[in-house]
Amino acid sequence: MTPTDLREFDDPMFRLAQAQFLKAAGIMGLDENICERLLWPQRTMVVTLPFRQDDYHEVETVFGYRVQHVLTMGPTKGGIRYHESVNLGEVSALAMWMTWKCALMQLPFGGAKGGVCIDPTSLSRAELQRVTRRYTMEIISMIGPDKDIPAPDMGTNEQVMAWLMDTYSQQVGYAVPEVVTGKPVVLGGSLGRTEATGRGLVYLIQESAKHLGIDLSQSTAIVQGFGNVGSNTARFLEELGVRIVGVSDVSTGLWNENGLSISSLLDWVRNHKILKGCPSGDEVSNAELLERPCDILAPCAMQNQITGENAQRLQCRMVAEGANGPTTLEADAILNERGIFVLPDVLGNAGGVTVSYFEWVQDTQNYMWTLDEINSRLHGIMTNAFRRTIIRAERDKLDTRTAAMIEGIERVAQAKLSRGLFP
Ligand code: NAP
Repeated sequence: MTPTDLREFDDPMFRLAQAQFLKAAGIMGLDENICERLLWPQRTMVVTLPFRQDDYHEVETVFGYRVQHVLTMGPTKGGIRYHESVNLGEVSALAMWMTWKCALMQLPFGGAKGGVCIDPTSLSRAELQRVTRRYTMEIISMIGPDKDIPAPDMGTNEQVMAWLMDTYSQQVGYAVPEVVTGKPVVLGGSLGRTEATGRGLVYLIQESAKHLGIDLSQSTAIVQGFGNVGSNTARFLEELGVRIVGVSDVSTGLWNENGLSISSLLDWVRNHKILKGCPSGDEVSNAELLERPCDILAPCAMQNQITGENAQRLQCRMVAEGANGPTTLEADAILNERGIFVLPDVLGNAGGVTVSYFEWVQDTQNYMWTLDEINSRLHGIMTNAFRRTIIRAERDKLDTRTAAMIEGIERVAQAKLSRGLFP
């Protein structure tokens, strides 16, 4: 099968994930058999679930997925996304990126991802709970603390993880906190997990600023997305003295040249749910916001935001990817040509899975760590991966995404060759 024949995986995100992988594999001279094997996920499960809305007469059929990309190095790990665009190809792309991310961070996991094709913002709390419990039941044979450990992603949060943990625990007959990460601290969740992706991204923005000679206290940032990753990234950047001139969510972009107060925006969103109507800045479209001038542009919402169409018009010095897959291959080429520094997703947003790994370790050992221990270990792992990526990029004259991916792919390939082929 060739990469152009994607069959049931066909989706723009999976095409992007495969194209990025093939580019890196070609440059590093990856063994052809290993390359062919890593091009596809090892296991996938497609489920349909009956979902009863609060109005008792309505029963809808909803599609759900769980994909495990590589099972070679240990259990698989990856978030669960609730969004209307979720399909097998999208989840498979996210699972593949998780493999490179875990390997780059030197975590003992392969990549996985899950998703339910539903708009979570339209659901009541009871509906969200029902869909989560039924989805968990449908994929229960695939997950487990030694098999595959889910976590939050777009549209899911620690409450959803608590319901998942409860459903699994009810089935086996005792509490199994280590089946899922990103759950509430009272259920064995880790301190620092909720904000870990944003915190990790900001640690790397600091490293990148040192590398590029940017004084963060004199710089500006635009953050696309004001959910978990975006709001925490904006908050930690603001704490470093960065002026946040633009933020957005799905409803609107907000622009204020003098700087937005992130705590005021968080208060507004707590009360109004969306940014639209917030008087702290001028409303601009999401597309326009990306093209406004700033030092750091942090896409922290959706895939496919920086494309061949708009990359030429970006006015930033650095793209710091909190989201998965926000930049297309065509855009990558333009950003490289223009000398815009890219903190690629597999590196930039790896803080989430790194603290998820800490959570799993704490749960399996029944030994909880302090927040200082967690943040300092996170800092060590992230900056080490950053250094290895920069050294490789400079030595082999590569763009940062390719360098980061090769760091990850090399580790996975070594593990596959060491285990050998069965039968
Ligand atoms: P989230 O909490 O659900 O937040 C998503 C944010 O993006 C929301 O503010 C949403 O707006 C906004 N958004 C959605 N579609 C948009 C669009 N078309 N234009 C602009 N904004 C849009 O999700 P999250 O956990 O922060 O995840 C965001 C990204 O980070 C995803 O790509 C995810 O895969 C990646 N990521 C997350 C983690 C993690 O630990 N959570 C870890 C690694 C990577 P509304 O609130 O108005 O809908």
